[in-house]
Formats: sequence, C-alpha cells, structure tokens
Amino acid sequence: MIFDFEMIKAVYKGMGEKQNAARELTGRPLTLTEKILLSHLDSHIDQAPVRQSTYAYLNPDRVAMQDATAQMALLQFMSSGRKKVAVPSTVHCDHLIQAEVGAKNDLLRANEENKEVYDFLASVSQKYGLGFWKPGAGIIHQVVLENYAFPGGLMIGTDSHTPNAGGLGMLAIGVGGADAVDVMAGLPWELKWPGVIGVHLTGKMSGWTSAKDVILKLAGILTVKGGTGRIVEYFGPGASSISCTGKGTICNMGAEIGATTSVFPFDERMATYLSATGRAELAGLSRDHQKELTADPEVFSSPEKYYDQIIEIDLNKLEPHVNGPFTPDKAWPISQLAKAAKDNGYPDEIKVGLIGSCTNSSYEDIERSASIARFAVKHGIKARSEFVVTPGSEQIRATIERDGQLEDFRKIGGLVLANACGPCIGQWKRHGVAAGEKNTIVTSYNRNFAKRNDGNAATHSFVTSPEMATALALAGRLSFNPLTDTLSNDKGEAVKLQPPTGDELPANGFDPGEKGYVAPARDGSDIEVKINPESKRLQLLHPFTPRKEESFTDMVVLAKAEGKCTTDHISPAGPWLRFRGHLDNISDNLFIGVVSAFGHEAGTGKNELSGDVDKLSANARAYKKAGMGWVMIGDENYGEGSSREHAAMEPRFLGGKAIIAKSFARIHETNLKKQGMLALTFKNPDDYDLIREDDRLSIGGLENFRPGEPLILKIRHNDGSEDNVEVNHTFNQAQIDWFKAGSALNLIAAQQK
Ligand code: SF4
Repeated sequence: MIFDFEMIKAVYKGMGEKQNAARELTGRPLTLTEKILLSHLDSHIDQAPVRQSTYAYLNPDRVAMQDATAQMALLQFMSSGRKKVAVPSTVHCDHLIQAEVGAKNDLLRANEENKEVYDFLASVSQKYGLGFWKPGAGIIHQVVLENYAFPGGLMIGTDSHTPNAGGLGMLAIGVGGADAVDVMAGLPWELKWPGVIGVHLTGKMSGWTSAKDVILKLAGILTVKGGTGRIVEYFGPGASSISCTGKGTICNMGAEIGATTSVFPFDERMATYLSATGRAELAGLSRDHQKELTADPEVFSSPEKYYDQIIEIDLNKLEPHVNGPFTPDKAWPISQLAKAAKDNGYPDEIKVGLIGSCTNSSYEDIERSASIARFAVKHGIKARSEFVVTPGSEQIRATIERDGQLEDFRKIGGLVLANACGPCIGQWKRHGVAAGEKNTIVTSYNRNFAKRNDGNAATHSFVTSPEMATALALAGRLSFNPLTDTLSNDKGEAVKLQPPTGDELPANGFDPGEKGYVAPARDGSDIEVKINPESKRLQLLHPFTPRKEESFTDMVVLAKAEGKCTTDHISPAGPWLRFRGHLDNISDNLFIGVVSAFGHEAGTGKNELSGDVDKLSANARAYKKAGMGWVMIGDENYGEGSSREHAAMEPRFLGGKAIIAKSFARIHETNLKKQGMLALTFKNPDDYDLIREDDRLSIGGLENFRPGEPLILKIRHNDGSEDNVEVNHTFNQAQIDWFKAGSALNLIAAQQK
C-alpha cells in the first residue's frame, strides 16, 4: 500500500512547471535543494530568495512526530478548531520505551508506564486524522523511510533526525512542535533560505567501509557546526553506488554537523528500495519525473557556480571511522584509533557494542553485521563485550528474525531490544557499570555527547558503522583493527575476521511482522480524546485570553537576564520532559536557569508582593493570582537554542505580558508571538541598563499597534523618576492579529467557526 499516493501524484504533477518558473525567477540552473524548496512555496514571490538571508513561506507535504514531542504539539492542535489535520501527519511511539532486559518485557513495561500518553496519542490521532504507529512498531525515521518518504517531497518532523528521509530524495527537516502545529493547522511554514553545500562522491566503497563512514568523515571535516543554516546535497558517481538505506544513514547524521537537512538525487537505488517496500508504482512515477528530482545538468558540470562549498570524498580511499568520545566530529580512521585511545586515555575495554537504531538498521546493515557474527561463530569466537541489537522497525525485526540474522547475533551473545529508541536517547536501564564509572561503549547510533546513552557522564561513547561495532564488540577492545589484527578463538588460534558481505534487500521480500499501524477514523467527530483529569503528565490546554481587552500598564519586572538566555535557561529539558504534555506542571521550571542581572541566584528573584526572594516561576504564579502583569527583560539573542515551544508557552501561561530584550533569536521570537506574547527589543540596547528590580513598566502605543511602528516603554522607578524609551518590534499584520486574538491558535479557531 502506498500512503497518500494521490497527494504525491499532485506534487509531481505541478513540479515541472513550478521549477521552470523558479529557473526564470533565479535566471539560472537549480540545485536539487532549490528545486524542492521552490516547488513548495506557499505563494508567488517576485524576487529570488537570498541564501541564508531571506525568509520564505513553504507548504510541506507531510508532518511526522515522535511520541515525546507529539504530546504538546497535538494538545495545541486541538485548540485550532480544525476537525482534521491539513496535511498527512503521523505519530510514532518510539522514544518512551526504556530498554532493560529485552524486547518483550521492555515493551510490556512501557505499555504499562506510558499507558496514559499512548491512549492520548492514539485517541487524538484517531479523531483528527493522523496515522498512529503503536509502541513497538518502529522508530519514526525508519518507519517514515519504509512508508512515507518520496523523492522530491518536503516534510517536517518534530525530531532532529528527520533528515533521514533525504536517503529517498526528500527534503525532510527537523522542527519544533510549534511549526508542526502550524502546518497541521493549515498555515504555511517559515524557513530561512538555506545555503547549499555540495558533497561530491566519487569511487565505490569496499571491504569494511560502509555508508556511515561518509558522514563520519564529513563530520570530521565540517565539525558539529559546519552545516549550520545549510543543506547538504550529495552528488557524483559515488552517490549512486550507495544503497537507498545507506543514503538514509548519511542524511540522518547530517544533523550532527548542524545541517538544516541533507538530500540525495533520485536514482535507481531509490527506485529499487521503493519497489522492495511495496511502492513500485511510486518508483515508476519518480522515474517519469527523474529530471525534476535531481539538480540541473549544469550544476553537475560546474558545481562551483551553484554550491557555496564543495567537499570531495573518494569512496575508494575512505577508511572505516570510529568517532568520539563525547562528540561526533572527533573523527578517527580505524588505523589511528588505537593510538588515539592510548594517547587520550580512553578506556580500551569495550563494555558494550550496540547496533541498530533509526540510523543504522536497514536490512543491509543487519545482514552485513550478521555476516561477521556468523563468521565468528563458525571460527569459535564469541563477543567479548555485551552486544545489543535495536531493530529500527517491526518490518525489519520480523524479516531478520525470519532470515536468521537475529539468531546469528544471539549466538555471539546478543540481546535484542524493542523496535524503539532505547539506549540511543538515554532510555537504557543499564546494569553492570556504576554511576560515574569510566567506561567505553561503541554504537551504530548518531549522537554521543556525554550522558546521551546511559546518563553516565563518564561513559565514553564512540559512533561507528554497525559492522565495525560488531567487530569491536567481538574483540572487546577499542585498539582492535579488524582490517589488520587477529582474534584468538576458543582453541587459542589466531583468526582474522572476513570483511562484511550481505544483500541490500531481502531476497524473499520484507515480512511486515505484527501490525503496528492504526489508521485514523473516517469520521472522528464522535471520538473522545482520552486525558485523565488527574494526570500529572497530560493536561488539556485552555485558550489564552484575547489581548485586546488587557492592560499593559504598571507591570512588574519578573527578572532581568544577564548574558546568555537560551531556551534551556528558560525551560530546561532533562527530568522536566516527563511533564511536556502538562503545561501547568512543566511551568514550574520557568526561567530556572536564568542568570539574574540583579544578583540573585540563578532562577530566582525578588517577589514584589512579599519582598522575599523565591523561584521565578513561583513569583510569576503569585503575580498571576494577584492579577498583576509582569515583564521579563532579556539580554542579547534571547531564546537561542532549541526551538522548544514550552519556552514561549510557559511565560504566557504564568501571566507574562511581554519579553523585552536587546535582541531575540528569531525562532523563539516567532514562537512568543504565536502564543500572544509581546516580543520587543530596546531601540537603544543600552536602555536595558535603565531597568531596575522594583520598576513598574507600561507599554504605550498598543491602541495603534502597526507593523514597523515602535512602541513606547514607560519605566517608572521606585524613587518617583521616570524614563520613556522606544521599543521596536517585528510583528507583521498577521502576527498583530495573533496578538489581539490572544494567540495564533485562537485566531485559527475563530476562523474555523
Ligand atoms: S533512535 Fe536515536 S536518533 Fe533515532 S529517533 Fe530515536 S533517539 Fe532519535
């Protein structure tokens, strides 16, 4: 079955014409990135977008959400008044399953512990027309690749590794929940026009080298920041030598170099994968549109004219890499790893080797890794390290169970986990290593910063291909190089492992396994969304009050942030994520990390009602209860960091009226506007210094609130003196309408009536 095939046909139908218009607009040939973006514009534009400068409005074809981020996104969507999502959307239950003893029991426990969240997500999906993938059905990006991704499409997903779908030629971009809500509610999605990095692949991989090594090498070249604000586009003869799922691995980990996303041009390897996953008709359609699904020929002949930067990678010479610890851009070719480990004091003993995850659990990955395990068993070698396998989807699990690879892994001591994120995101109840104990693990995952896998800051986590992770787990040593070294078997003989081999796709087709997909109801109007009113993790949202009748005078200063104030300072993650579906409970973390310019401990400030110093969230609650408006003062680039929507919702929920800063991070500024908050900047940044702890602030000019016209901030000091300063804003007319309605969702809801 091909999901949403009519939608895909419609995208392809208009694509050629839109790309011709785009070529006329830009006056030059187009990269693949530009082709996809320009054929998804929300409305006509008169001027070609300028890379890393212009903001454009786009219409994504679909939305994907994982179970942790979907909670608040769907709670917000419910307030939009829409009966159904505006574009095809899906929810995937993968992040909340904790790995401990193995797939069956871990899944049973997760179903019990997260029942209320799963019941909510299932019922809200049923009601509003979203596809729902049950716990155990698979990891979001693997399921998307198997079912939804299509060449030339544009998708957003509430998870950083959404770019995985670039392996199938889709521009797939990780976003915050607020963006997903907009698109599901029928609004266009705003993107800063990206730069484009071209990665030219030549040659062909062989032996121990695999697709993962392309991105591990690139991470070493570009570092974790090198892709920021840019899309990585792969091209060249080497690109078509890599399988579709291998391309997915490369695009997945583009998130680790900070890239907006990554993409490969459509080729026969993609067509083969589409056919193998039940989408032969789509493969045919993509072939018909091949020209539109790759960059223009001039781009390939003179890439330096069209890409901002070009990086050459010769696959013939590419060595297997093992990157880490603590950062994915510390890139070690295997021939240098033993020395690096010795020089840097990385523990040589590997405690655990982990393969799979959304990054690396294709049939090809598993089959190649299993070939190493089979060889080891045949030659009397067992894994010296613990060995853990996470299939990326139920389809992969059932197929590799049927075809024997899981049994191969069990024979070397492997433990098979649920088809979920597990140890990749710290959902790992690890045994055998004490908290704070220095130890080494190797994984085929994508991220390896401190605490990521097991919460232990002393765990040295290295990222590599599944083949290398398997070989290293057999050896149990980081200093082992399977290309040159031998292992001793149960008879004491020296054995050299054979390079991995294996089929790209199952010869007997995929086995879908247990059904994990639940289609939405045709008519969801009678379906009740399940939220227990006593729940600590979920809470229905109530619309914020319209702003137009509110007063913005004599407001207290809740706090004045000094220096960096990221969304992590405003609303940190960690243990608070448990409450991400419960706005009231998570609001207790508001501003908990903010450094006080008034000299108080971080996250605290003087309560103007009691005179006591208390948590800022407690003070905000007290002001709200007393009917007193409050303002937060910010420094430069207020709200940088993750685009988490809670950082904008919580101030609004606890009675905040305005955030006035020297400058804003743009995404957070927009998020504040969506929630009906006034986001203002000091016209003269030095006016920040005028604000004192016991001031009363009033904002004048709101009766004539217009785009481009500054407002007046009246600062009444405790000594009776006053300052009047100008404050700027970037609200356009539509955003002013959000403000007046109380929030963007209030306005959408009013328009639905
Ligand atoms: S497996 Fe890891 S990287 Fe993939 S979606 Fe889950 S947590 Fe994210």
